[in-house]
Amino acid sequence: MYDIIVLGGGPAGLTAGLYGARAKLKTLVIEKGIEGGQISNTTEVDNYPGIEKINGTDLAVTMRKQCENFGAEFSYDEVVEVDLKGDIKKIRTANESYESKTVIIASGQEPRKIGCPGEEEFVGKGISYCATCDAAFYEGLDVYVIGGGDAAIDEALFISKFAKNIYVVHRRDELRASKSLQERALANKKFHFIWDSVVEEIRGDKTAKELVLRNIKTNEVTEIKKDEPFGIFVFIGYLPETEIFKGQVEMQKGYIPTDEEMRTNLKGVFAAGDLRVKSVRQVVTAASDGAIAAVTAEKYIAEKEGHLYQGFKEESEA
Ligand code: NAP
Repeated sequence: MYDIIVLGGGPAGLTAGLYGARAKLKTLVIEKGIEGGQISNTTEVDNYPGIEKINGTDLAVTMRKQCENFGAEFSYDEVVEVDLKGDIKKIRTANESYESKTVIIASGQEPRKIGCPGEEEFVGKGISYCATCDAAFYEGLDVYVIGGGDAAIDEALFISKFAKNIYVVHRRDELRASKSLQERALANKKFHFIWDSVVEEIRGDKTAKELVLRNIKTNEVTEIKKDEPFGIFVFIGYLPETEIFKGQVEMQKGYIPTDEEMRTNLKGVFAAGDLRVKSVRQVVTAASDGAIAAVTAEKYIAEKEGHLYQGFKEESEA
């Protein structure tokens, strides 16, 4: 029986794991991929206080080690079923079954898909959602980046270290990305912009060979074909990874509402990070959520078991 099971090993989950284990609670973090979540696909994090600049993977690995140093356990496994309504929370993964007094949901978000014909077929064969993973394959080649937000421009800047040309395909005639990212992109000679355009279809055989774009103002369709291979990187936002909790945890458009202490509608179930209903989704806010969720879980267990919450004891002794 665990005190806390954290579902997800991104910044929110890793911070929850750190705070849970540091409070000497038996804590397990379950992560289906590698630790870090979205930051593991980020080349440079430069807005986490106290660290001027760090590679996303390095930050995630440090967070995981910090958790482990305090005694948190890790399982790299996929959660396939949860039963969160009872007093004892039950979690089944592909390989194990676990029980816990509390659960912190921190499974984050996954990339939004374009949803056009050919997209699914060519994932990993010309279409990518991860610059860190795949940019190097396009050394000296052209790359089309779909999207106009921070992620699209940030990742496009990274890809430009490898690619010959970057074509940013955006559905509006101006970028949503922050001014500083925009300035860097506009100053980069490799960048070209295809405004007011969406992807209609991706065609190919073994790999993607043709990108069909439609101008949404003129309805003009352009078929892009090249002699050389080219890449298509999609960064059009993210969707919460909460499907498995449907019917148990209350949601709003797939996102989980919580109070300020990260409580969900279910007793003993907390949520932290990007899958919460909130306005700012950054590493620092995810970490903050994780810390709060773990402290609230600790208080919940203490109240339920009739012993003193250790945080209060430390505070009153100090
Ligand atoms: P985002 O800010 O929501 O931007 C998504 C972009 O994709 C928008 O430009 C949007 O167009 C476009 N889009 C959405 N659906 C589309 C569709 N079906 N077809 C074509 N285009 C579509 O998401 P994000 O860029 O992934 O960023 C997510 C969060 O992470 C943000 O809070 C962001 O600030 C943060 N982030 C920050 C950094 C950084 O600070 N360096 C880096 C990465 C991410 P419209 O503009 O027309 O809506």
